[in-house]
Amino acid sequence: MIELRDVYKTYRMGETLVRALRGVSLTIGRGEFVAITGPSGSGKSTLMHIIGLLDVPDSGSYRLHGREVARMTENELAILRRGEIGFVFQQFHLLARTAADENVALPLLYSRGRYDLAAAREVLARVGLADRASHRPNELSGGQQQRVAIARALINRPSILLADEPTGNLDTASQHEILEILKGLNRDGITVIIVTHEEEVAREAARRIQMRDGVIQSDVGASKPRAAAAPEPATEVASEPRARVRELIEHMRQGFRALAANKIRTLLSVLGILIGVAAVVAMLALGRGAQQAIEKQLSSLGSNLLVLRPGSVRVGGVAQQAGVTTRLTLEDVTEIKEHVPGVNEVSPNVSGRAQVTFANKNWNTQVVGVGTAYARMRASEPQIGRFFTEEENRQRARVALIGLTVVRELFGGQNPVGETIKVNKISFQVIGVLPEKGATGFRDQDDVVVVPVLTAMRRLLGKDYVDYIDIEAESPQVMETVQNATTDLMLSRHRVPPAQRRDAYQIRNLADIQSALEESSRTMSLLLASIAAISLLVGGIGIMNIMLVSVTERTREIGLRKAVGARPRDILNQFLVETIVVSVTGGLAGIVLGWGATLVLSSVAGWNTAVTPGSVLLAFAFSAMVGVIFGIYPARRAAALNPIQALRYE
Ligand code: ADP
Repeated sequence: MIELRDVYKTYRMGETLVRALRGVSLTIGRGEFVAITGPSGSGKSTLMHIIGLLDVPDSGSYRLHGREVARMTENELAILRRGEIGFVFQQFHLLARTAADENVALPLLYSRGRYDLAAAREVLARVGLADRASHRPNELSGGQQQRVAIARALINRPSILLADEPTGNLDTASQHEILEILKGLNRDGITVIIVTHEEEVAREAARRIQMRDGVIQSDVGASKPRAAAAPEPATEVASEPRARVRELIEHMRQGFRALAANKIRTLLSVLGILIGVAAVVAMLALGRGAQQAIEKQLSSLGSNLLVLRPGSVRVGGVAQQAGVTTRLTLEDVTEIKEHVPGVNEVSPNVSGRAQVTFANKNWNTQVVGVGTAYARMRASEPQIGRFFTEEENRQRARVALIGLTVVRELFGGQNPVGETIKVNKISFQVIGVLPEKGATGFRDQDDVVVVPVLTAMRRLLGKDYVDYIDIEAESPQVMETVQNATTDLMLSRHRVPPAQRRDAYQIRNLADIQSALEESSRTMSLLLASIAAISLLVGGIGIMNIMLVSVTERTREIGLRKAVGARPRDILNQFLVETIVVSVTGGLAGIVLGWGATLVLSSVAGWNTAVTPGSVLLAFAFSAMVGVIFGIYPARRAAALNPIQALRYE
């Protein structure tokens, strides 16, 4: 069943070439008990690794059950390793922190997709360890550990058992026990090949092969070659959906265990993702909150509102010399009101910055001069006090209504109505408090002082023009005609030359304003979210870093898993599941933290926030993706390791 022809294997150690096998030809039949002896360095282990499919020859042929090994794929090799061959190492190679029965059951994870601890216990009983099943390797003696390793090699009922100096690290009594077990297995029909230094062990074998300098020196006691058995087809592991799910659950369990073994490291990588996700959730909530605030405000205004502003193009050159200006005036206001059909109400607006003081308090804010219609058109009927009258406007009365932010800054909790404040050093009487409007994006709409438009123009800002004009149409149907008529009126009143007409005036309705505001708040939230996404990226790199360390640290474990039959895909899955567990845990915690942060922001800082299911989903999907993307590289590296090199890794 084992046929080697002219097998060569050379290792490169820096500059020098070590020729471990130099033309080995060997045939071993079913049921033989073979001992391989020879001085250290003669190539015994190399030969065993090749027979055990843990390593490949440089040249020559190796046929197992009549099939040429060199032509098999990585997956076919894995299936043979776990089904046909049991390998016992001198160093046992048990997984630490894992009970004996689970160690024994490990190959079943790959052959059957699940741990069958009952089967493992049965095999443990066969090697006399029934009462040690739940002990961990560090609670067992050397001989017991080796018996666990033998049980592991037997769990898949292999036809060949390979043991590389299995008693090399053991005392005489244990050595004897192991030997008896191996002899018993051979009597049951298993082909046993053992590498040994001990003369006593070698004597027990029916066939003895002696090696020296990479070649076979003597070979005595070979049994008569029997008819070669029919090659047994290598079968793929059952990949029905249920087996897949079980496999995944098992990988997850292992992932959790590996993560729990390195708590601080795991915690740190979870933290990276957590902060990123929390930032994404909070930023999106802020953006969404701002948008909702805008919507709420706009919906409180009449939908028939139009806003007229001078256009962005300055009328210059010849036109300017002819005395043309697109600036709006108070006469324009009257003209629109009187001559444009379908207009309900018109209100001029001027604005500027001003310093307001009360007692020893000082505050810089926005001053807006408006007409009396403003209160109704802009939903600004005062909460306390009253609005100013047309009479007061005409008299340029020094009366003011103030927003809540100004009230808070100047008066604290006190009622400001009736008090006298100074605006740019001019005394004003506070006659009312404006209703709360909240923030639009980052602009605080309550940080404002409203005064009569004439007072603002003549006393405060020194302007002889108005900045923009609010126009209320009678109904939504006439909006368009009002819009056109107003523009025409302005163009003719200001004698705008035809070439500049298109951009001379800008007249927008609420829908336009709404979409413009939403656009800017969307841009802002996108900006915030991308900054948050960068922190998520950094978290992902942190995970990759930690997984790479973990792959390096667990190289020997990976080698062992491959030696007992794990396919590259199994190793890949195992590491991927680990990174995903980390990133998803971080993601979930991040969502909670982000949510909490938005609650704090809105209750303490008074910002508008809104956590939407969409943003939570997005953050979660993003964190899971980070786990996959940054996990793939380390996982692939682990999966690509050669079993024997991985096992030898220090
Ligand atoms: P034995 O088992 O008889 O002691 P080995 O098969 O382990 O001998 O080694 C044969 C030779 O090959 C030794 O000189 C050893 O140093 C060398 N060798 C084995 N494995 C490697 C390796 N991975 N890299 C470099 N040299 C190796």
